[in-house]
Amino acid sequence: MRTHPFHRITLIIIFSTVLSVNLLFAQKKDEDNYLGKADLYKAKKSALEYLSDSLIVKKYGNISDAIWNYAELGMQEFKSSALLMKTLEEEGFNVEKGVAGMPTCFVASWGSGKPVIGILGEYDALPMISQKPLTPAQMPIVDGAPGHGCGHNMMGTAGIAAAIAVKKSMEQNNLSGTIKFFGSPAEETLISRPYMVRDGVFKDVDAVIDNHASSDMSTSYGVNGTAVMSVVFSFKGKTAHAAGAPWSGRSALDGVELMNVASNYLREHLFYTYRLHYVVTEGGEAPNVVPDKASVWYYIRNTDDRLEEMYKRVLDCAKGAAVASGTNLDTIVVLTAIHQRHSSKGMAETIEKNMELIGMPEWSEKEQLFAKSLQKELGEKEEGYPLKIKALHPPSDIQVGGGSSDVGEVTLIAPTATLNFPGGVPGEIGHHWSTVTSGYSTAAWKGLNAGAKVMAASALDLLTKPKLLEEVKKEFAEYSKDHPYKSFLPEGAKPPLNLNKELMDKYRDAMLKLGGGEQ
Ligand SMILES: [Zn+2]
Repeated sequence: MRTHPFHRITLIIIFSTVLSVNLLFAQKKDEDNYLGKADLYKAKKSALEYLSDSLIVKKYGNISDAIWNYAELGMQEFKSSALLMKTLEEEGFNVEKGVAGMPTCFVASWGSGKPVIGILGEYDALPMISQKPLTPAQMPIVDGAPGHGCGHNMMGTAGIAAAIAVKKSMEQNNLSGTIKFFGSPAEETLISRPYMVRDGVFKDVDAVIDNHASSDMSTSYGVNGTAVMSVVFSFKGKTAHAAGAPWSGRSALDGVELMNVASNYLREHLFYTYRLHYVVTEGGEAPNVVPDKASVWYYIRNTDDRLEEMYKRVLDCAKGAAVASGTNLDTIVVLTAIHQRHSSKGMAETIEKNMELIGMPEWSEKEQLFAKSLQKELGEKEEGYPLKIKALHPPSDIQVGGGSSDVGEVTLIAPTATLNFPGGVPGEIGHHWSTVTSGYSTAAWKGLNAGAKVMAASALDLLTKPKLLEEVKKEFAEYSKDHPYKSFLPEGAKPPLNLNKELMDKYRDAMLKLGGGEQ
């Protein structure tokens, strides 16, 4: 509809009057909210304008691409965490480094006092899936090297972009409270959060916004995924000439193999929500020497209430295997142990409202062509990137197993929900070269930027609406009554700092040389 200029002026006058009445009202602050609607609008506007600046989109895009190039495995994310910390420090955040005994773990804070709103971020890669960017066919940059096959390069970056945007808005609009970013290493091996929680890192946080890269924009609530115990069982035997005097030896590898046979038989008698898998990490050096050392690394997964019982039964398989093979079960090292996710409904609803506010990015023709060519290669429907957000729907009552995230620990400490933001190609396979190839360049930048906007707007809702925060905390307190947090970590468990060190040392130089992502 076209309006007459005179009408336009009238409309402007009416609008400004409404706005100033709103501002007056806002200055009084209504009883539900710390800010009136107009001031909250202004607060969100400051954050969103910052994130909409094309130079800012590029700035965080370049950070995400640099972390994509580093492709550092869990516990070895030295360059990735340094880049994120430097960016936060440059914006005036106070950064605590080496948190919870992990060199690549950090907490960045800005502001003071309550409420304290947290944003989570990850930045670790996966082994073996090195891949050239935007290349719709498998083509490693460095054969066998790691790659970002779960979009964590975008996630840590989206998290800091959101935290910085919130800080800018708090400064410009005189908002009180604290914004914190929790730099969480080694999510792929589920390590950092149980140790961060054990060290009290989240103790003053009122609510937490988590994020994950995806092809959609969505959020969820309720219980999902599996709880996990990640355990390395090591057997000790006796060496001997494998042909000359085998009767003198006791094979530690036999211990491992018998344990695996026993635990595979165990599957038949486990409740169907379980998952159980292992890799042999040490099994001897040569066939003609009876191996005296062998180790197997297990992921034992089930629902929170069935995990510890399942672990005991797998442990019995290990003990039985030691007896049968005449070896000793030398060490049992629990690397990590985590709960299922219990995401907050109130937090998911807050995130969803802001997803609707922000909407999906606009994809260019070139980006859509790439998405379709990758979908073609994967034998998927050639539909390109999605154009609509996904509506929030109630969780399923049925637990069917599935993957895990150590975000589960945080969901039991404070009201938490996860925003899935776009940037990935629908049909790409997780932990696979197809996800690596799409997590770089402009579509990924746009996706993480949209994610940062939704997170920043949600954090501003939580910072400025005491009633909303109170409701979210009440829901959490109700749930916690029946589900109090109790760590699955055994006493004295330590984060495995050397995990992935050898692998990273092997590939780091070649990756940096060929990747060209040095900043
Ligand atoms: Zn992931």
